[in-house]
Amino acid sequence: MTQPQTSVLRRAWTRRDLMRLGIGGALASLLPNLAVNGQAVAADSPKDAARQTLATEEDRNFFRRELDSFLPDKIFDAHAHLFKQGTVSWDLKGLPPQVGYPEYQALIQDIHPNRRTAALFLPAFSPDKKELLPQCNEWISQQVAQSKDCVGGFFVKPEDDPEWVRQEVKRLKLRGFKCYHTMAAVTPTWETQIPDYLPEQLVKVAGEEGWSITLHMVRSRAVADEGNQRWIDRYCRQYPNMTLILAHSARGFQPAHNLEGLHNLKGLDNLYFDTSANCEPIAHQAIMRIIGHKKMLYGSDFHVSHLRGRSVAVADSFLWLYEDTPVWKEKQGTIKPVMIGLENLRSLKWACWSERLSDNAVEDIFWNNATKLFGIS
Ligand SMILES: [Zn+2]
Repeated sequence: MTQPQTSVLRRAWTRRDLMRLGIGGALASLLPNLAVNGQAVAADSPKDAARQTLATEEDRNFFRRELDSFLPDKIFDAHAHLFKQGTVSWDLKGLPPQVGYPEYQALIQDIHPNRRTAALFLPAFSPDKKELLPQCNEWISQQVAQSKDCVGGFFVKPEDDPEWVRQEVKRLKLRGFKCYHTMAAVTPTWETQIPDYLPEQLVKVAGEEGWSITLHMVRSRAVADEGNQRWIDRYCRQYPNMTLILAHSARGFQPAHNLEGLHNLKGLDNLYFDTSANCEPIAHQAIMRIIGHKKMLYGSDFHVSHLRGRSVAVADSFLWLYEDTPVWKEKQGTIKPVMIGLENLRSLKWACWSERLSDNAVEDIFWNNATKLFGIS
């Protein structure tokens, strides 16, 4: 048996062991894991970018203990934001003022080290810099051009002329849209209906061109909301060549909404889900069980991945704990929160374990589903 075959078998056995025997955490990390020594990413990262890291000792220990034996060798990150200097007003301690393809490849090593990583890149910008959107879209295009296995989305505003959008997306060699509720003309935008920030004429263009749309739903009950269900169902049925990706595991930060609402969205072949930023295992499990794992795409939500804390389901809603939320001093001692991207991955691991997913199914979520969808070999 050749060395590569041994590696694959051993790694496969390691993760199967987690699934079947319920061995996790520290014990699993002691098991042989030869396939994690690859240097696939470093090869095309400039030297200065390759040194960038925000990971603390707690983050690295968490990865070793919880994730190293679970994560496949190849990762497609279907929800990653890149940003050009001057287009964002927020500031994350330690993050460079601009993150393009090389910086992303270096920094994402904090979340999944030593894995080949490809991505669907989406523009990031601050709401007060809306006028810089054309620059953001150009920037994404330039970053996508640096890799043959990455794709990019074009940020659309509801008032954009559909034909102009079609030409721009083609010119920039992108293959989908990103929309966001803050662009809607109604207030409060958190309660807005989908067409207010994703008008049907843009969905029609995506359908005609075979593009994807990443949708971060709003309204308090997310996919359990009748209005959201109605529009998702209509868009998917009306435009079967468009792929609708519901971000953050259907924004099921409160998993009860997924358990209640997903039954009404069964059978839509062009409906997908990215798992980004959601730290609740049942949110992912609900999709696996009700819709099927073939529709799931892993996503890091970089740069949100690099904040510390997690989402927490509570009452009929959810909240976010961040590093500066004053909750970490407990009686038993002070808790050091880890990166949201790591918490998200552990919740996905628990979901895979609980649903008894095979190794192949795990690899589908992390690579095969996305590369098939985006036509990447
Ligand atoms: Zn995002």
